[in-house]
Amino acid sequence: MMLYFAVFLSTLPFLFLFTQFKLLGEFSAAFANIAGLLGVVLMLWQLILGNRFVSRRISRDYLAILKLHVFLGVYGFFFVMTHPFLEMLAYGEKITFFFIPNFATEFGKHLILGRMAFYLYLLLWVTSALVRNKISRRVWLWLHYLSYPILFFSFLHAASIGTFLNTFVLLKVYFFILMGVFGILVLYRLSQLFDVGKFPYVLSTKKISAAGVTSYTFSPLATSLKTQVGQFFFIKPSIFAASHPFTVMSFDENSGDLTFSIKAIGNFTNKLESIAVGQTVFLDGPYGVFTKEGQNHEPKVILAGGIGITPFVELINRFGDVNTKLFYSNRRLEDILLREQFKAQLGANYIDVISEEKVENEPVVAGRITKDVLLSNLPEDFINKANFFICGSPSFMGGMMTVLKKLGVNKKRIFTEEFSL
Ligand SMILES: Cc1cc2nc3c(=O)[nH]c(=O)nc-3n(C[C@H](O)[C@H](O)[C@H](O)COP(=O)(O)OP(=O)(O)OC[C@H]3O[C@@H](n4cnc5c(N)ncnc54)[C@H](O)[C@@H]3O)c2cc1C
Repeated sequence: MMLYFAVFLSTLPFLFLFTQFKLLGEFSAAFANIAGLLGVVLMLWQLILGNRFVSRRISRDYLAILKLHVFLGVYGFFFVMTHPFLEMLAYGEKITFFFIPNFATEFGKHLILGRMAFYLYLLLWVTSALVRNKISRRVWLWLHYLSYPILFFSFLHAASIGTFLNTFVLLKVYFFILMGVFGILVLYRLSQLFDVGKFPYVLSTKKISAAGVTSYTFSPLATSLKTQVGQFFFIKPSIFAASHPFTVMSFDENSGDLTFSIKAIGNFTNKLESIAVGQTVFLDGPYGVFTKEGQNHEPKVILAGGIGITPFVELINRFGDVNTKLFYSNRRLEDILLREQFKAQLGANYIDVISEEKVENEPVVAGRITKDVLLSNLPEDFINKANFFICGSPSFMGGMMTVLKKLGVNKKRIFTEEFSL
């Protein structure tokens, strides 16, 4: 909430212009300029929040930060698009104004920077908002780097045209401060090419822990990163590789060792399997605040699907007791991670739910986690009293939310972490 307020505060100097219309002349031209300036501020925030090395200094709640990043993308789009359309109307231009540059006048030349920012912005918006599912994640991420030239051209465009910035000196000073922030961000981004902010760890042990799941323990080579229950790190297997997020399954406070259990489902996770013990990887984190509300001995219900169990392993180690109920959903018995450990820790409070295998001689629930499964395994007061934690694939999360809604569980007591961004 504080962050939303900070974003609002940063737009105030430009919102103040709405009180100065008498001075500013024609409404549509004035509105166009204010919209453009607001668009720049929102884009700058998007850049700040989209860079996790910067945003983690503001908050470790990476998923909430991403939510705000997307929110600003949606509303920033309104301001960015309003700007050229209203300019077109104000100058009595036709739609060709967007596509045909005018090199004949000085003003026309200044507009070229704005046009370049606009075209790149459109490309970024179309690929993020409209065809996101049709392009690979890698291409989509690379396209996000367009935000830097977009802001660069936008700043130059606004500074070279001037308008309100020339009328109000303080506004100009503020605008140059924003440009300075952008400059620092660019330098910071460049420094990350050299792995600043990522920490070297060595793979010390690696073992198969369930079907298709490998557990990796990494030991710090230099700095030992501190983490809390339920947090995740980005793992980067080599200098030029991509980095993906994984939850710390357990950590050793003395040695600084971090253990992750990772299911091989695609390119990155399959390649990760080929790294050898002794190899160096880079970690950055920790991020996330998931299970914070469960780090106590109050009643809690854990609903985990497949590899979505990882955020709960250390939670159960430290806080699992008679008030903890774990429903662990898997396709087959061989998919279950740490079954014996959970049985020993939670006894009858651990419930296996198996959907694709007929299991005999084992106390498992067949099928999926449904309203009836929860009702018949939870003490009556848990529905109104316990906190509910859900983690798994998007379809598992959707299913569990529907079940909890049917049970009438208050939304404020439901905490989720989805294993996709
Ligand atoms: C906060 C968080 C914690 C996670 N913890 C674990 C864990 O402890 N163990 C585990 O096995 N998996 C975990 N995941 C999921 C893991 O990050 C993805 O399975 C993995 O990145 C898939 O990459 P891939 O190239 O192998 O598969 P792909 O086939 O490329 O991707 C499969 C799916 O994984 C998701 N994904 C792909 N790339 C990324 C990325 N860079 N960031 C986030 N999601 C991505 C997408 O939804 C995609 O559809 C976690 C994800 C998140 C967001």
